[in-house]
Amino acid sequence: MGKKDKGGGGGGGNQRNQSCYLQVLGLGCDTLDTLPSVLLFFDNERYLFNIGEGFQKFSLENRIKAARIDGIFLTRTTTEAAGGLPGTLLTLADKIHGDHDKRSGADAGPGSNKKPAAGGTADGRSFLSVFGPKGMKDFTNCLRTYINIRDIRLGVKEIGEGDAPVAASGASLREKESAAGAGARYHTLVKNEAVEISSVVLEVEDSDLQPGKRPRLEEEACLSRRNNSVDKQVAVSVYMIDLCDIPGKFLPHKAMELGVPKGPAFGKLCRGESVMNTFGKYVAPGEVMEPSIPGPTAIILDLPTVDHLRCLESKGVVEKYAKEQRDKEGKRLVMVHLSPLEVLRSEEFTSFLGRWPAGTGHVMVHHNGSEKQSIFSSAVRLQTELHELFPEFFPRHQNAGRDSASAGADLGGLGEQAIDGTNLLKYHLRPMSRYGPDESETMEGKQQGLEKEKDDAVTTTADGAEEKKQNLVANVIRRHEVEKPSCVSEASAGDLEVTFCGSGAAVPSKYRNLSGIYCQLSESGGILLDSGEGVCGQLTRRYGKARFDEVLANLKVVWVSHIHADHHSGLPSLLRMRSKVAKDPLVIVGPRQLRRVLSTYSKIEYIPIEFIDCSQTTEGKALPALLSDRLEQLGIASLRSVEVNHSCYNAFGVVLEGKSGWKLSFSGDTRPHEAFIKAAAGSTIFIHEATFENGLLEEALAKKHSLTKEAIESGAKAGAYRTILTHFSQRYPKVPVVDESFSTTTCVAFDLMTFNLKTIEHLPKVVPEVAARYEIEPMNP
Ligand SMILES: [Zn+2]
Repeated sequence: MGKKDKGGGGGGGNQRNQSCYLQVLGLGCDTLDTLPSVLLFFDNERYLFNIGEGFQKFSLENRIKAARIDGIFLTRTTTEAAGGLPGTLLTLADKIHGDHDKRSGADAGPGSNKKPAAGGTADGRSFLSVFGPKGMKDFTNCLRTYINIRDIRLGVKEIGEGDAPVAASGASLREKESAAGAGARYHTLVKNEAVEISSVVLEVEDSDLQPGKRPRLEEEACLSRRNNSVDKQVAVSVYMIDLCDIPGKFLPHKAMELGVPKGPAFGKLCRGESVMNTFGKYVAPGEVMEPSIPGPTAIILDLPTVDHLRCLESKGVVEKYAKEQRDKEGKRLVMVHLSPLEVLRSEEFTSFLGRWPAGTGHVMVHHNGSEKQSIFSSAVRLQTELHELFPEFFPRHQNAGRDSASAGADLGGLGEQAIDGTNLLKYHLRPMSRYGPDESETMEGKQQGLEKEKDDAVTTTADGAEEKKQNLVANVIRRHEVEKPSCVSEASAGDLEVTFCGSGAAVPSKYRNLSGIYCQLSESGGILLDSGEGVCGQLTRRYGKARFDEVLANLKVVWVSHIHADHHSGLPSLLRMRSKVAKDPLVIVGPRQLRRVLSTYSKIEYIPIEFIDCSQTTEGKALPALLSDRLEQLGIASLRSVEVNHSCYNAFGVVLEGKSGWKLSFSGDTRPHEAFIKAAAGSTIFIHEATFENGLLEEALAKKHSLTKEAIESGAKAGAYRTILTHFSQRYPKVPVVDESFSTTTCVAFDLMTFNLKTIEHLPKVVPEVAARYEIEPMNP
């Protein structure tokens, strides 16, 4: 590769991109389910390294405009690095459709000067480039099975096709010399006047496993709990970001000394062209300029295992860059480390760090980092406020429970150059006067007395709340009693516990994650209804890291309502994480299109599942033995899917009946639907989507969703003991409008809201209290 030496170049790029920094987006730093992202910011260009689950929610919270990103680079093509890509693409696609609608509308305004989404093209269609190592094509093929990404014009590049893998462990040492001799293959991905981004692919060939083959299930069971053999096979891209050199200052007196006449010739020299002097000789720009300042280099390094480190070592990358740094005066280099703590703690890693020249910066954004707070601070604030009001329904936000105290200490041996890459840490690369880390936007930085932003999240209006609440209770919410079922009056707390992992529709908001309802059944395990992006993170926030592993291991069934991405895009990541803690395949009951999604995905990662089509579980069908068996273990007497009326084929609702007499029904996405209401008759817990508020019938009909009042009516028709509304459009980030359609059996779902058969009786009292306290906030910007 080798960066183009601009010498006396005019540096037009510098004019446009005077400032440049890296910023740590600490996704997963709290829950460890995803890799952090790193944003590379220029005045006119944005690049993103990794896009894990929760990226959209994080962007809303931190005002990062996903639509302005020009390229995405993945260090791995697994969900850890790319879990947020499907959701982000969907949002981009929606935006583009929206813009098309506006443009074609009669009252379309004048042409917008705004930059089109994701590096848009002249015809208004977008163009987003995504780069990743081996598996990239399989990953996008998987996306194509459920996302219409035609309009985004996604450019996908699989880096390192044809690169030979390096054998693992001992073999790699033997081959080290020859491989080092051959040198690494640098793939140039972006090259413009400001920056060159290139990549080296690390691929470890595991001699324990036959190349290209995943272990069979029985073999899998023998593997270690952390299942390192699978991680070892992951191909990884290392990214090198080389900023262009800054040309030295033009020295007019030197030019005149050399006989260059004032005027256009000076301009030519400044632009990097040689000119002829008055004596007929050529004068080169280098002769009349101060020496140029070498542009800094940043390296994004994700090493899942020590074998990947060995692979990197064998390619001579360190030597190349270390030499460059020693040879060029003023050359700066910073490495951003995304590797897990196991690798950072290894002796080999310490010696690796030791070989870099003094002055090299190391930012440790390690997976097991030391974040003490959630990265979604608005959601945590709301959760904390709700906890104060109703501790029985809103448990305190769990820290991930990592050894945060020791994490910093563990890195003590890495020397002074290693700094903690906390969430939102910036590392300035340009201008050189600002070069280095900048904590002003991190939590710590903000708390250190820097100007604190007005907290727009907290709009609790304690003043008059009591009065408003009384008014809602007395005059608005209808009185409606349903006799308490015996399963409730005789319940013990451990019978059935329900947690909402997400209660939002389509796109996450600051307060509402995507669909997911986790039902824990005493000690025997649980069943998950829908599995939208971020479900693992939410379960970790609910149960803490240690119990999360237990929950995953004991998860018996995931039921998915329909093929829309917000209902299943968290599934691959859940399966990946579960395969590390459980031996049995997970039973997935879902719409038939989901089988294809998962089978395409299984080319990338080992995800042991048994798939059952929802239509095999409708009324009158004999349930597959495996499913009956799992339900039996959970104490569930019956699971029935009911086809509902939504904007895609094979959309279902579900009705579960517990052996202890409870009945829980969940509508999935649907217009009000008689067959579902009939099947759900007498439900103890009736969960229904309520995407739109009551005035928006046209939208509800077009998109085949339900209005608040329709969901409440459906519950009343089913004679439900409690009706819980969920799947709210992001128009209502906190509370939907409470009006006369609400009754005393109506409840509203919030993220991480939890209840059991004992506490469900009092769940409706949350509605007036919360509605009286929170203003309706405007839509997400
Ligand atoms: Zn849907």
